[in-house]
Amino acid sequence: MDHRDALQRIPAVERVLQEPALLEPVEQGRVPRPAAVDAVRAVLADLRDRVRAGEEPDLGPAAVAAAALVRLDAALEPRLVPVINATGVVLHTNLGRAPLAPEAVAAAARAAGYCTLEYDLATGRRGLRHDLVAGLLREITGAEAALVVNNNAAAVLLGLTALARGREVVVSRGELVEIGGSFRVPEVMAQSGAILREVGATNKTHLHDYEQAVGPDTALLLKVHTSNYRVVGFTASVAAADLVAVARRTGLAVMEDLGSGCLVDLGRHGLEPEPTVQDAVAAGVDLVTFSGDKLLGGPQAGILVGRAAAVDACARHPLMRALRPDKVTLAALEATLALYRDPAAAAARVPALAMLTAGAGALEGRARSLARDLAAVAGDRAVVAVVADTSRTGGGALPLLELPTFAVEVRPAGGGAGRLEARLRAGRPPVVARVREDALVLDPRTFGPEHDATVAAAVGRALERGQQEQEREAR
Ligand SMILES: *Cc1c(COP(=O)(O)O)cnc(C)c1O
Repeated sequence: MDHRDALQRIPAVERVLQEPALLEPVEQGRVPRPAAVDAVRAVLADLRDRVRAGEEPDLGPAAVAAAALVRLDAALEPRLVPVINATGVVLHTNLGRAPLAPEAVAAAARAAGYCTLEYDLATGRRGLRHDLVAGLLREITGAEAALVVNNNAAAVLLGLTALARGREVVVSRGELVEIGGSFRVPEVMAQSGAILREVGATNKTHLHDYEQAVGPDTALLLKVHTSNYRVVGFTASVAAADLVAVARRTGLAVMEDLGSGCLVDLGRHGLEPEPTVQDAVAAGVDLVTFSGDKLLGGPQAGILVGRAAAVDACARHPLMRALRPDKVTLAALEATLALYRDPAAAAARVPALAMLTAGAGALEGRARSLARDLAAVAGDRAVVAVVADTSRTGGGALPLLELPTFAVEVRPAGGGAGRLEARLRAGRPPVVARVREDALVLDPRTFGPEHDATVAAAVGRALERGQQEQEREAR
């Protein structure tokens, strides 16, 4: 078939841009002209393909403009959008790990313009960004010195490079951790230029294993917290304080990668106790590294605290310039750390900790109230029930901990919980939930009651669209 006629009727880009539906938003500055041109070109290319394939699409400029607007809406929407986390996974790495406290959000916004990042207001001279949160970190952890970098992977890389480049680092075979597929202790060690000296066995490493490995080339004894797994059964590991004793006798340093870096005793809140930063510092560890956005509940950051000589060596290292944090991060971190000045209050005021320590009783109340809202919007389109369930910490922390919770199950009348989940994900705001067998599972641990009405409305819309789809298919 010859499509030359139809191909010639496809309008020119400039003609489509004259359509009021496109012209107005461009002239009012709501749509950048180059984006409009790109969208029209894409629609026209698509129409050419369809004509060549023998289709007879509407080639009128108005139809093309309308199709371009649909593309523009999708193209101009930000890619990084807030979501409602109904998964019950508190430190969900894919959803941005720790949600920030309102105090941290406000501080980040305040620092976004000009701020005192490296400026001393008292003297009018250059200040040091390192100093902004070092005081708070020293106060909270009891350490002599503190430093902040981009994330904990950067902190470990910097510590190993500054303290052990070209020399040996002794580490237990039970602690050669991989976190999230891209952070592996042996590989970070290789990048730092330090030489890995493995000791002990997977399940047991003793003090004499470290002692025997120490030689003239040794720089550091490294301890790594097995954040995301546990070795159970016949196991032995060496406490940081015992490594410190060996290091002091032999003139070495001890570094401990704590992973999460918990600043409060979770055991006091009925959770599995995590080693705290304060304990590692008190044990005399020279350099302790941990994340800002795991159990600490702040922004993505890597924190190094410990003895002045070790921290200063990191601060002075040329790599520091490549790993330094920005003003927005430092502002959010300072505000988060300030909440730890009163450790008893921190568990309630740091959102990640408040979610982790929420009691099953309170969550049951939340689930019942959410279930009532959901039942009201679902009508006979779904069965809604409150069920006992478990939430998870996530973020590679507390891997065995099962947090008792109460979740709401929504079973669509005609099946299709997976399609319901996908529709919720595609909505605005997106609601991210789990699917179990033929039910959508919403865990109220990871979103506040202020979102209940939004979640219920989103589920209501998604169920309605599901029903319409089923009716269309039936016809
Ligand atoms: C999470 C973790 C890391 C990596 O921390 P990021 O802040 O994600 O870079 C390193 N070591 C341990 C033990 C961890 O748990």
